[in-house]
Amino acid sequence: MDRLKHAIQEKGKVLSGGVLKVGSFLNNQIDIKLLSEMGKDIYERFKDCGVNKILTVEASGIAIAVITAQFFNCNAVFAKKSKTVNVDGETYSAKCFSFTHKNENNLIVPKEYLGKGDNVLIIDDFLAHGEAVNALINIVGQAGATLSGVAIAIEKGFQGGGDALRKKGVNLYSLAVIDSMDENKVVFRD
Ligand code: 5GP
Repeated sequence: MDRLKHAIQEKGKVLSGGVLKVGSFLNNQIDIKLLSEMGKDIYERFKDCGVNKILTVEASGIAIAVITAQFFNCNAVFAKKSKTVNVDGETYSAKCFSFTHKNENNLIVPKEYLGKGDNVLIIDDFLAHGEAVNALINIVGQAGATLSGVAIAIEKGFQGGGDALRKKGVNLYSLAVIDSMDENKVVFRD
């Protein structure tokens, strides 16, 4: 998606360790107009897949998931990274290693929000090694729900998670795929 690629080129900052900072429009401050266009783009790609639920992980997936859910006219559910006092009842859970925090999280979704009959679109802001998306796919499986696909704002192609999902046959759509990046240059996949 050209506008997103442009924003990455203009405002993104490449940090050490293969991290891209996009705090000014996606993570910390949110450019609602851009996010809305991204949500519409994801909707156009998946509108015929019968999506009735969007699933993401806190915190930075929530904004893009919610804005996209508006186009599908469905609810967005987010996995929590730890069990808090306001989560009661039975839950699905799956472990994943956090790329940004460098620790292991247990993703938790209350069973009451996801189940058989749900056609799920997983959404996240970034795809790196695929830990978060694979944990969410695991939770969709535990729920007996159907996975319609996975939509990602920024896939860092050089970290391999996206291609591994494609190999497994997952219907993956990334708005921008970065093939390589350093302080001077970000190169996108065509
Ligand atoms: P993965 O689980 O695919 O290895 O990493 C994806 C998760 O880590 C996303 O939920 C995202 O929040 C975070 N993440 C991975 N790489 C980056 C990055 O370069 N920048 C930012 N801001 N977050 C990232």
